[in-house]
Amino acid sequence: MRGKNPIRKPETSDGSELFVKHIFPTLQGEGLFAGWPAVFVRLGGCNLACTFCDTDFEGYAALGVFKIVERVQELAQNNDGKRVRSLVVITGGEPLRQNIFLLCEALLADGFKIQIETNGTLFRELPEGVDIICSPKNTGAGYFPIRADLLPRISALKFIISASDSNYSDVADVGQNVHATPVYVQPMDEYDVTKNAANRALALELAMQHGYRLSLQTHKLLEIE
Ligand code: SF4
Repeated sequence: MRGKNPIRKPETSDGSELFVKHIFPTLQGEGLFAGWPAVFVRLGGCNLACTFCDTDFEGYAALGVFKIVERVQELAQNNDGKRVRSLVVITGGEPLRQNIFLLCEALLADGFKIQIETNGTLFRELPEGVDIICSPKNTGAGYFPIRADLLPRISALKFIISASDSNYSDVADVGQNVHATPVYVQPMDEYDVTKNAANRALALELAMQHGYRLSLQTHKLLEIE
């Protein structure tokens, strides 16, 4: 995408149908749940258009919540029909652009653990037990404020780090100190070997200097989606 996506407004539907780009089994490659086999539900559209965005979330279709859950249940099974992927990652795009309460409720009721990956600029009521991972994004004049109602519910913050982009070369206080929220630093993938090496070195230095946790995009090392 790399900042070329149309900016989509929050949807107002009741959430019984959602715009879905793709549902697929994979390994959570980064952050708090790195290494967990998971089913990803990639929802369509985002309310931001970040210049470094590496995800395709346009060209989506409406799908009923029960169809989504059915597909997740199928993809959570191994070749013997046994459920082995207990984590569902609801991502995007921006997943809180849509009302995902019913989807979360149905997945929790079926015993799944749920992680949401959000940019923190939108808020939705969510059932208890959902882990919210927030990756703050920069406007060029500072970070978009994280929604005050979302902040206390965030399980971890993930800052993208770039040595050549001053908007992403450090960790700002977006509210983590008030709530003692764990902070991850993750090197930006700029599709450039030299820049990526500098980004890894800076993220490592920030982790060592400040006690942040380092997050690497292991799914890219494994060449999986
Ligand atoms: S908020 Fe995330 S999904 Fe949306 S454009 Fe930025 S990087 Fe891409």
